[in-house]
Amino acid sequence: MSKRDFYEILAVGKKASSDEIKKAYRKLAMQHHPDRNPGNKEAETKFKEATEAYENLRDDQKRAAYDQYGHDAFGQGGGQGGGQGGGRGFGQGNQGAEGFDFNDIFNNFSDIFGDFSGGRQTKKRSTSPRGSDVRYNLEISLEEAFSGVTQKISFTIAVGCEPCHGAGGEKLETCSTCKGNGKIRAQQGFFIVERACTSCAGVGQIIKNPCKICRGEGRVSKEKTLSVKIPAGVEDENRIRLSGEGEAGARGGKTGDLYVYISIRKHQFFTRKGDDVYFEMPIKFTTAALGGSVEIPTIDGTKTKLQISEGSQNSDQLRLKSKGMSVINSGGRRGDMYVRINIETPVKLSSEERDLLMRLDKLMQSKSSNPKSESFFKKVGDFFG
Ligand SMILES: [Zn+2]
Ligand SMILES: [Zn+2]
Repeated sequence: MSKRDFYEILAVGKKASSDEIKKAYRKLAMQHHPDRNPGNKEAETKFKEATEAYENLRDDQKRAAYDQYGHDAFGQGGGQGGGQGGGRGFGQGNQGAEGFDFNDIFNNFSDIFGDFSGGRQTKKRSTSPRGSDVRYNLEISLEEAFSGVTQKISFTIAVGCEPCHGAGGEKLETCSTCKGNGKIRAQQGFFIVERACTSCAGVGQIIKNPCKICRGEGRVSKEKTLSVKIPAGVEDENRIRLSGEGEAGARGGKTGDLYVYISIRKHQFFTRKGDDVYFEMPIKFTTAALGGSVEIPTIDGTKTKLQISEGSQNSDQLRLKSKGMSVINSGGRRGDMYVRINIETPVKLSSEERDLLMRLDKLMQSKSSNPKSESFFKKVGDFFG
């Protein structure tokens, strides 16, 4: 297959100016760039073709040679064997249209596009990378979760260096590795990935006169103390974001955020389920039988009287409306409290208690004071015939 004419590929005239050539190439490259056409072989070919054409026409010497000798100028034309090395004119190593060297392209790419996403030709001074977000684990009590609390927390973190105002030093020079872009493009498989430049930490500039305190980093490790306001009704694993309280960015980069993750300690009496609070209440079997009133603690730190009705059964659940947890951002609304009755069988009986209980037991045999167990034993009797 004979090679297409470079001018034809770029759709420019033979007399096109270098600006026109650049413009034409830029348009084609944007259109057929592999990043925009993943897996599209045709686009890939067009992109390579356009790049090769541009590579040769942007250089005045190469262009002159091409104008005179055509493709033969580069030793890639039909019939020119490898024995001749570069052929006439300017050898291009052994990169045919197939063995394409992407690195070359992308070095030039940054030249003509500047910042790729911005599409501007002017080289922008890239901004310093942002500091990391940081997680802080904070454990609070259930009472604190109920009432809300302001907690002081202290931790060591990178903060902006004061002597150099986070700049890291003086005399900035454009980083030669990334040419000031702060990023380096590299090919990974067929795709082009962008990475922060390691020479300049992604800033795009090298400091010739680094600050002695932070050694050019623009940030130093320091103990920081903050007050964290935890709202009433906060739940386990809720997180509170403190904007700009994370790690300082290198060399004046934006500061990351701090995330305070809340965990709530297990309470000895109360179990929380959403906005409700559960409470297990042990009561004497006599109270359960006779009824009565008991005092129970509530999550708000006060006590409340609970009425036990006569004949209460084990695991009966009583609801105390609006005695539960605060509902977050509700302006004081509260969930409910559930009290579960746990009837205790007496142990270590005195002889008097034992006598009384035996008398009671006899008494109860002739009455239906225990309908559940009586009907149960009757059913078991029927079962065995
Ligand atoms: Zn760099
Ligand atoms: Zn400094």
